[in-house]
Amino acid sequence: MPALLQPLHAEVLRRNPGEPEFHQALGEVLETLEPVLTARPELLEARLLERIVEPERQIIFRVPWQDDQGRIHVNRGMRVEFNSALGPYKGGLRFHPSVNLGIVKFLGFEQIFKNALTGLGIGGGKGGSDFDPRGRSDAEVMRFCQSFMTELHRHLGEHTDVPAGDIGVGGREIGYLFGQYRRITNRWEAGVLTGKGLGWGGSLARAEATGYGNVLFAAEMLKTRGADLAGQRVTVSGSGNVALYSIQKAQALGAHAVTASDSAGYVVDEKGIDLELLQQIKEVERGRVSDYAERRGPSARYVPGGSVWDVPTDVALPSATQNELDADAARTLVRNGVKAVSEGANMPTTPEAVRVLREAGVLFGPGKAANAGGVATSALEMQQNAGREAWSFSEVEDRLAFIMRDIHATVRDTAERYGAPGDYVLGANIAGFERVADAMNAQGLI
Ligand code: GLU
Repeated sequence: MPALLQPLHAEVLRRNPGEPEFHQALGEVLETLEPVLTARPELLEARLLERIVEPERQIIFRVPWQDDQGRIHVNRGMRVEFNSALGPYKGGLRFHPSVNLGIVKFLGFEQIFKNALTGLGIGGGKGGSDFDPRGRSDAEVMRFCQSFMTELHRHLGEHTDVPAGDIGVGGREIGYLFGQYRRITNRWEAGVLTGKGLGWGGSLARAEATGYGNVLFAAEMLKTRGADLAGQRVTVSGSGNVALYSIQKAQALGAHAVTASDSAGYVVDEKGIDLELLQQIKEVERGRVSDYAERRGPSARYVPGGSVWDVPTDVALPSATQNELDADAARTLVRNGVKAVSEGANMPTTPEAVRVLREAGVLFGPGKAANAGGVATSALEMQQNAGREAWSFSEVEDRLAFIMRDIHATVRDTAERYGAPGDYVLGANIAGFERVADAMNAQGLI
C-alpha cells in the first residue's frame, strides 16, 4: 500500500471489521490510485476517496417466508447503495448462502468503478440475501422473492435504484420480483429492474452480454500482442449465465472452449463443450456439470473436486465466483503457457494470483472492465424501456461490442497516461475513479 494511502486504508479496515472481501476489493483499488492522486492533488484535497469508500446508504432487512411444507424461514436481505454520482444505483442481487454485508459491499464497491467505465450514466450498488435457491421449488422461490421485494420496493425506482441478477438470481427471480414491485406500487415501471423477460420489457442479448463482453475483451487484449482468439484453447469456470455465454462466444469466434465447472467439480471436453446439452442441463433441468459428462460420451471427463485451472489453456476465463483462482492455480496456468486471463466473475482472481500472472507477463483483464458488458447491456435495457422500444439482437450486440472496445481503449490509454502501460488493473481503477471523482467534485460536498 502506498504510504499516501496507508492511513485511509487502516481507517476503513478499522471501521468495517469482519468484511474480508470488502477489504480485499478496497485494497486492490487503493494500491493503484497513487499516480492519479499525486497528479491531481485537488482530488486528494477534496477527500474524494474517503467519501467514495463510505456507501451512501446501506439497507438491511428481514425476509420471512414459508416453504412448501408450511415451515417458516427467516433470511436477511440487503442493498448497499454505494454511489449515485453518475446515475441511479445499479447492480445485481445475489441469492447465495455465503452472502453477508462484506460480500455485498465488495460487489457494490467494484460496481461503482465498473459502471463508470461503461460511460452510460449508472451509479453503483449491489444487494442480495443469504437465501439458498438451490433445491427450492418455483413456488418457494416465488414466495421468497415476494417477501424480499415487499421490503425492498420502497428503496427502488427507475431513477433511484435499479437491481438486476447475479449469482442465484436469473430470469425466474427477476420475474417474481418485478411482479411484486408492480403490485405494491401500482406502477408499470419497466426500468426499475433489468434482466426482465423478453415479452415484458427485457432486452435481447442481455442474458448473453456478460459472457460475450468478456470474450470480446479477451480478444481485444490478445490483439495488442498480435494474437487472434481464433484457434486458441479456452478454459471457462462456472456453469451459470456468464460461463455459458462465454463458451458460446468463444466458439463463435473460432476458439476451442473445453471446460465448465460447478462447486462439486469440473468437466473437460476435448471435442469442445456442447453448449446445447450444457444449457439443457443447467438452465432447464437445473442439474450439475457431472450430468453433462455422463450424457456427453467419451470426449468428456468429469473431475470431482478438482481445480479447472489444472487444465492446460491459452485463455482462462474465470466466470464462477470470487477468489476461485488462487496463486497456486495461477502458477499452474503460467507453467502451462497461459496467454491471457480475463475475469467474467467479480474478483475471481486473488491478489497473489494477479501478481503471479503479472510477473509472468500474462495479459490480465480485471472484472471491472472485462465483465462490464452485462451491466452495460442493463443500461441499454433501461434506454429501451425509457423510449418504449425493443431493439433487435444485432443492434444490442453491436452496441455491446462498441462499448467493450471503448472500455478496453480507455483502460489501456489510462494505464499508459499514468506510466504503467499494459496494466489493465491500474487503468480500470484510475479511469473509473476519475469519472466518479470528477462528478462528485462538481456536485459539491456529497
Ligand atoms: N451482476 C452483474 C454485474 O456484476 C450485472 C449487474 C446489472 O446488470 O445491474 O455486473
